[in-house]
Amino acid sequence: MAGAKKPKPQSRATITVHGGSPHPKAGEPVALPLVQSVNFVQYPNTADGLRYTRYGNTPNEEVVQKRIAMLEGAEAALVLSSGMGATACALLALLRPGDHLLSSSWIYGGTRKLFTEEFVQMGIEVSFANPDERRVWRNTIRQNTRVIFVESPVNPSSRVIDLHQLAILAKTQGVALVVDSTLASPINSRPIEHGADVVIHSATKYLNGHGDILCGAVAGTASYIEEVRHKMMVWGQAPDPFACWLLERGLKTLDVRVRRSNENALKIAEWCQKRPEIRKVHYAGLSSHPDHALAKKMMDGFGGLMSIELSGGAEAADRFISRLKLITHASSLGGADSLVVEPRYSSHAHMTSEERAAIGIPDGFIRLSIGIESADDIIADIAQALQ
Ligand SMILES: *Cc1c(COP(=O)(O)O)cnc(C)c1O
Repeated sequence: MAGAKKPKPQSRATITVHGGSPHPKAGEPVALPLVQSVNFVQYPNTADGLRYTRYGNTPNEEVVQKRIAMLEGAEAALVLSSGMGATACALLALLRPGDHLLSSSWIYGGTRKLFTEEFVQMGIEVSFANPDERRVWRNTIRQNTRVIFVESPVNPSSRVIDLHQLAILAKTQGVALVVDSTLASPINSRPIEHGADVVIHSATKYLNGHGDILCGAVAGTASYIEEVRHKMMVWGQAPDPFACWLLERGLKTLDVRVRRSNENALKIAEWCQKRPEIRKVHYAGLSSHPDHALAKKMMDGFGGLMSIELSGGAEAADRFISRLKLITHASSLGGADSLVVEPRYSSHAHMTSEERAAIGIPDGFIRLSIGIESADDIIADIAQALQ
């Protein structure tokens, strides 16, 4: 049509509220209804339109799938029962026995177990590369490499991976670049914009943001997402409609929550940096962080996850955690509540003190997931706990 103007694309803040859900008509509910039904009345004389919760095509599932695809700038997305379910199905759709998976060595513990225990047993070759050693990536690629897998930003170091560089390598070698972008959320970074093929989320974290559901998401091309859907169906990894309903509601505030967490964490990291009781602060928003320049280039915000190392070591860390009144001692991250953990009692409990120190997690290392409370109140809590 001559002269017809394309409508301006909606901003992410608007997509978080409305993306994927039809505008309600007069008399209809404004809040998305929960349709808990597992099966749906079928049209006569056809197999088309068969709906079943395990297929991921019921109303609450479809709305969150569309919204996440829009937020990531992907053709399509699928929501699964957990972040681990998402990672497993996303990679099973890409790898066959005899294929090689090249993974960053800085990944979530559960993901590492999936690769080294389950995938290896299935005949998939797995090797790890240290993202700090650039040449290692190129040298570790084999004839049968099908996937490069990274997590960025990295938990708990707040390290950031140069996705653009890896995407160039992946393209020239004809392999898929898969990114676990849980810590960034689509508000801070969209890996597809940097050349990634597949984006994975533990939607349990920022996407839902309230610490009350377990969910995962995969985004990519429409044809690839159909392959992931097939894995989800046969391995039984579909989410519950109620989890999708809560996720849809959580997504509405994603933009404001992530922005507030970003602001809070930066303010708290800057404050922590000046304290004599704290030896080191790990946060990509600080100019002292090794990936500060890269994070500034690649991300719209530095996120809510930061770590500190107390000068007093293990004893000081135990004392600090037991004195906190506002910040809650609990695992997980990315919610409205600020949470704290000591990796030596949680994610890295299986290692010795020396082994942890060697990978940059010495005794006295504390991880903070900064929530959306007032930054001043969080700082006051940290200050009184340090005394
Ligand atoms: C939590 C987490 C996962 C696993 O997600 P679940 O929802 O717990 O299954 C995967 N990757 C990262 C980076 C995570 O933080």
